[in-house]
Amino acid sequence: METDVLIVGAGFSGLVMAERLSNALGLRCLVVDKRAHVGGNAHDAYNDAGVLTHIYGPHYFRSNSAKIVDYLSRFTSWLPTSYEIRSFAEGRYWHFPINLNTFEELIGRPSSEDEFKAYLDQKRVNIASPANSEEVIISQVGWELYEKFFEGYTLKQWKKHPRELDASVCGRIPVRTNRDDRYLSESFQALPAAGYHRLFQNMIAASPGVQILLRTDYRELLPELKARHIVYTGPIDEYFDFRFGPLPYRSLRFETQSFDADALATRLPISGKKGFWQPAMQVNYPNDHAYTRIVEIKHATRQSCDNTSIVYEYPDEYAPGKEPYYPVPTAENSRLYAQYAALAAATPGVSFIGRLATYRYYNMDQVVGMALHEFDKLQPVLARAA
Ligand code: FAD
Ligand code: UDP
Repeated sequence: METDVLIVGAGFSGLVMAERLSNALGLRCLVVDKRAHVGGNAHDAYNDAGVLTHIYGPHYFRSNSAKIVDYLSRFTSWLPTSYEIRSFAEGRYWHFPINLNTFEELIGRPSSEDEFKAYLDQKRVNIASPANSEEVIISQVGWELYEKFFEGYTLKQWKKHPRELDASVCGRIPVRTNRDDRYLSESFQALPAAGYHRLFQNMIAASPGVQILLRTDYRELLPELKARHIVYTGPIDEYFDFRFGPLPYRSLRFETQSFDADALATRLPISGKKGFWQPAMQVNYPNDHAYTRIVEIKHATRQSCDNTSIVYEYPDEYAPGKEPYYPVPTAENSRLYAQYAALAAATPGVSFIGRLATYRYYNMDQVVGMALHEFDKLQPVLARAA
């Protein structure tokens, strides 16, 4: 078997590379994925209840980059969405991320931005450059709100104390003194209008030079496959046969429940909205239960459907055979990754991109950006060869 470029992984990073290399350079690309579908962790599908569900946890597309949004807009239109969530602590729902509404819930009366700022000035711990996930939160909101919303959630999610995790982990969550309830802060926040799977299908349909091979580990192909270049988007430690030892990952387990209109009628006092089970797209459970969050994606997709589905998300130990959902951002793991990164840099003819091959907690838009950047770098080299 022969191809110009072998692409390992049909997630965002692999498919963007395939589309660019085939359409801009006329190269034949063979995209191989172990799974039975394209899209990687961003895959979505309609379940038995007819509800469009994000199969590997909720995927809220957002970006500050016009270049990335313009690129993806070739393959999808968008459904603008304001992603809103709640946190459930001490037996009640709280506005989250922390903002003026949360503060009013804390003190039990109406307040003002000035009063909240004065509260934060008094509570926050003075740390000039936060070195870990505990410091990044206490330096913004102090101990009380940190303990209520962050410490327990982070321990559950990572099985590590926030002190052990990079500041970037909890630093992803904004803190605001106004009433902006959006979970995310990026300027562009929207879902692919017909879902992620359709977006990926459109990318593939627009790329005649791309061949997709599913349910296949690329290693099965290597003995008889000839390719001029490899784009690898799987776990970097696996590529190098764990030469320096395995990199730690965190896994997840999802449990889905679906409800019809009759069952949902009894939830109206809680959801506040006909056809829904809970009051927001996502409810976080920082301190109670083994799960971290319950997601009801229909709030965001605004699908017209009498049924709804909720997904309980349980953090899970990673072990071979499970999905390595999250790299674990600690200083020790960065050092181990750096050894693999050095090996990757010294491996000609292979590009390592995406969340797993760079062992970075990247969002979808960031891996799209990384793939576009890698394409720009490869273009002169592969164009010459073509
Ligand atoms: P992946 O999507 O992981 O694709 C890699 C592919 O490689 C996989 O399909 C895998 O099967 C395949 N593969 C691996 N090894 C092999 C092999 N040996 N042979 C063949 N195939 C192989 N991002 C956001 O922007 N917003 C969100 O709200 C968001 N929520 C998230 C929620 C969860 C629970 C998780 C886990 C991630 C979330 N992300 C979110 C991140 C997002 O999923 C990633 O940024 C993105 O999917 C990474 O794309 P990728 O192509 O790098 O990797
Ligand atoms: N986090 C938290 N409490 C919350 C939400 C998030 O402590 O209610 C922390 C937790 O460590 C989590 C990180 O912030 O892993 C990033 O949260 P995000 O919701 O962005 O996680 P993801 O969607 O990537 O799983």
